[in-house]
Amino acid sequence: MRVIKVAIIGAGGGGLCALRHLTKPRTIKGSAAEERPVQFEAVCFEQAAKVGGTWAYTDQIGTDKHGNLIHSSMYKNLKTNLPKECMAFPDFPFSDDLPSFIKHEDVQNYLEDYADNFDILQYIQFQRRVCQVRPVAEEGGLFGVRWEVATQSALDPHDCGSSDLYDAVIVCNGNYSIPSVPPLPGQESFQGRVMHSHDYRYPETFKDQVVVLLGANSSGQDIAVELSSMASKVYLSHNKAPLVSQLPDNMEEKPGIESLDAPNQVTFIDGTSVRADTLMLCTGYHYDYSFLAPECGIQVDDYRVTPMYKHLINTKHPSMAILGICKRIVPFPFFDVQVKFFRAVLEGSLILPSEADMDKDTDLDYKTRLAQGKPHRYSHEMSGRLFEYMNEVADLAGTERIPKTFEDVYNWAAKVRRTQLMTYKRMNLIPNEKGDGFVPV
Ligand code: FAD
Repeated sequence: MRVIKVAIIGAGGGGLCALRHLTKPRTIKGSAAEERPVQFEAVCFEQAAKVGGTWAYTDQIGTDKHGNLIHSSMYKNLKTNLPKECMAFPDFPFSDDLPSFIKHEDVQNYLEDYADNFDILQYIQFQRRVCQVRPVAEEGGLFGVRWEVATQSALDPHDCGSSDLYDAVIVCNGNYSIPSVPPLPGQESFQGRVMHSHDYRYPETFKDQVVVLLGANSSGQDIAVELSSMASKVYLSHNKAPLVSQLPDNMEEKPGIESLDAPNQVTFIDGTSVRADTLMLCTGYHYDYSFLAPECGIQVDDYRVTPMYKHLINTKHPSMAILGICKRIVPFPFFDVQVKFFRAVLEGSLILPSEADMDKDTDLDYKTRLAQGKPHRYSHEMSGRLFEYMNEVADLAGTERIPKTFEDVYNWAAKVRRTQLMTYKRMNLIPNEKGDGFVPV
C-alpha cells in the first residue's frame, strides 16, 4: 500500500472538499490492469476554531482578541447570489427545505453537515496556523520533493510552533480576506469614513447617510441595493457598462472616482461631484501566500498567480496545488473537480505534461485572455469559460463531469441577477416535470 501524506491548509469549503476526497483508501487501475492501492493520510490545519471559512460569520471586524485578522467577509443579511441548486458539492445537495437563494448561516450549516457526513472533522487541527511551507529535495519524494509544513498556535503569537514533512500540499486559504485598496488622490483630506466591503456588516450603521460604493462586482451591487433601504442616497461608482436592471429610486450609478476632497467631496471622472458620508471600497481582495517560502516558486503579480497549470498545479513542484484561485465560479463544484484532478496527479493515474509544456499551456490561456481584451487582473476570471474548464479538468482527471443542470441553473442565475437585481433573490427553482432540470417560480 502506497501512503501519501497530504497537508491541507484551511478548512473552508475548499479544504473540506480536499479532506472528503483524500481520506479514503483507493484502488487505482493501472494501464496494464494491475491494481495499485493508495492510502491518503491527510491533515488539515485551520487557524479558526471551526470549519466554514468565510461562511463562519462574525460581527467583529479588524482583529480578534488574539490579534488575528478577521477572516470572514460575510455581512449579516447576506443571501447567496447563486442558487443552492448550482452551489452544492455534486455529491451533497442542500436540503430540499431551503429556498434557492439561502442565508449565509444556511451555507455554514451545510458545510458543517458536509464535514459530519463524510466524517472528516477528525483530520482537522483547529486553531493551528500554517506559518511556513517549504519544499525539501528528496529523491524518493513525489516530483523529487517533500514539504516541510510549519504550524503554530493561532491563540499564542509567541508559540514557537512545530513542523512535519508531507508528500503533498493543498493550499485552501481563501481569497476574500485581504482587501485590495486602490490609491485615491486626496484621500488624506477626505473627512468622511472610508472603509472596505470586507468590514461591512449591517445597513443600520448607514441610516440617512449618503454612501458612495466604488466597484460594481457582486458585493458592490449587492451591498448598494441593501444600503438603499437605510441610506438617504447611494451612488454606485464603476467603469463598467451601466447596469441593465431596475434600481432603487435612491440609487444612482456614477463613473469611477477621480479624487476625494475636504471635507466630504467625491469627484467622479466625468467631472461631477457629490457629498458623501461614507465611501465603501468594493474593490476586491489580494491573494495572500506569504506563508509559502520563496523556494515554493509561487509568485503573485497583481492578481495573477504563477506558475499555475490549469489555475491549480504549481508547475515548479507539482505536488503542490492551490485551490480556487479563480473568480466568477461555482466554488463548491469547482473545488470538487480540482481536488479530483490533483488526486489523480498524486495517484499517478494522470501524468502531467513537462514543466515547459504546462507553462506553455498557462501562457496561452493568459495571452488568449489579453487578446480578448481582458485586463491582466482578469487572469483567473472564469465567467464564460467556467463549465468548459470544469469539464476539461474532469475529463483529464478521468472523473465525472459536473451535471449539466448546474450549468443551466448558473446561466439562469447570471441572467436574473443582471436584469432583476432588486428581486432575484426572492425567486425559487423547483424541479421541472421531466425531472431533469429546474424551472423558476
Ligand atoms: P475560505 O472559505 O475563505 O476558507 C479558507 C480557510 O482557510 C479559513 O477557514 C481560514 O481561517 C483558513 N486559513 C487561511 N490561512 C490559513 C493559515 N495560514 N493556516 C491555517 N488556516 C488558514 N460562493 C458561493 O458559492 N455562493 C455565494 O453566494 C457566495 N457569496 C459570497 C459572498 C461573499 C461576501 C464572499 C466573500 C464570498 C462569497 N462566495 C460565494 C465565495 C466563497 O468564498 C466560497 O463559496 C468559498 O467559501 C471559498 O472557500 P475557500 O475554502 O476557498 O476559502
